[in-house]
Amino acid sequence: MPNPQTTRQIVLDARPNGTPTTSNFRVESTPLPHLSAGEILVANEAMSVDPYMRGRMNDTKSYMPPFQVGQPLDGAAVGEVIASNSDDVAVGSHVLHGLGWREHSVLNAAKAQIVDTTLAPASAHLGVLGMPGLTAYAGLMKAGEFRAGDAVFVSGAAGAVGSLVGQIAKLSGASLVIGSAGSAEKVDYLKEIGFDAAFNYKDGPVVEQLTKAALEGIDVYFDNVGGDHLEAALSALTVHGRVTLCGMISQYNDTEPAPGPRNLGLAIGKRLRLHGLLVGDYADVQPEFVAKMAGWLQADEISYRETVVDGLTEAPQAFIDLFNGTNTGKMVVRL
Ligand code: NDP
Repeated sequence: MPNPQTTRQIVLDARPNGTPTTSNFRVESTPLPHLSAGEILVANEAMSVDPYMRGRMNDTKSYMPPFQVGQPLDGAAVGEVIASNSDDVAVGSHVLHGLGWREHSVLNAAKAQIVDTTLAPASAHLGVLGMPGLTAYAGLMKAGEFRAGDAVFVSGAAGAVGSLVGQIAKLSGASLVIGSAGSAEKVDYLKEIGFDAAFNYKDGPVVEQLTKAALEGIDVYFDNVGGDHLEAALSALTVHGRVTLCGMISQYNDTEPAPGPRNLGLAIGKRLRLHGLLVGDYADVQPEFVAKMAGWLQADEISYRETVVDGLTEAPQAFIDLFNGTNTGKMVVRL
């Protein structure tokens, strides 16, 4: 089959003010450039939508550059190489790369990573074997300095990162693993995958539900949510407790800075350590993470879910739905 001449991509049409809507995005067709030396053409099979992309929709300086109005968005994607001008990446290989939000991507082969599809489908490299998996592993074991016997609380527990944090903690000898999520179905799911306790944060104040689940307190809090979850965790943490500040999704659509936790002063008396995490800082942990995660998957000791949405045109809604909690496990767009 001849290679396609054009492809479709999602462009940032306007920056959101508060919660994004589909009108912030538009689909456009664009010609595919001829391959230069060293380049490959990838037919993308799946792309990732991630909460961090919300920050990139704002025109503010951050750890990643903002998306530009009128330009295609980008992010992780996996696909099959259908043309190659590189000796390093053969046609037919599956690769992970950073030019998602489009059906085809042309990029330098050095910026693509060949992925093994024998252990798990290519899309797993967007989740359990990819960036969210490394975030969970490094955030718990390194930033959170997890030790066997720790009692762990994780928020956003039914999501891509959170569902792995709880399972990794359990497999690594946690005395108690508690998760919070936004529906009864998600609470059931957490218990199915081995969490000792789970609650729906919409059922009542987080501090009350957490205190009931952790009568002797928690040693590690893995924060994906911020706000009332962080405040409740500060109350429940034991002396020398540790917090991995991974995400604060409850605040990403705020138009004014959210107030800090009212009980931050507890961190002094309890000698807490609050560790801000950026997964990009943990590239050196990648080999250790992949070895461990591959072993757990092969032994069927970790389970993972994907919420799959079909078609590029649905990608904006899939992204917005991260903030509605529509996903269990990794939100993936199949292309
Ligand atoms: P998830 O798969 O967890 O999806 C997002 C989930 O957040 C939703 O399913 C929803 O679940 C929950 N959520 C949305 N709004 C709220 C709210 N207002 N209050 C509480 N929960 C809410 O996403 P990821 O696993 O990819 O990411 C999880 C967190 O980790 C995010 O905060 C993200 O920004 C962060 N992250 C940080 C990284 C880093 O390097 N620091 C790297 C990767 C992720 P529910 O139904 O339970 O509400």
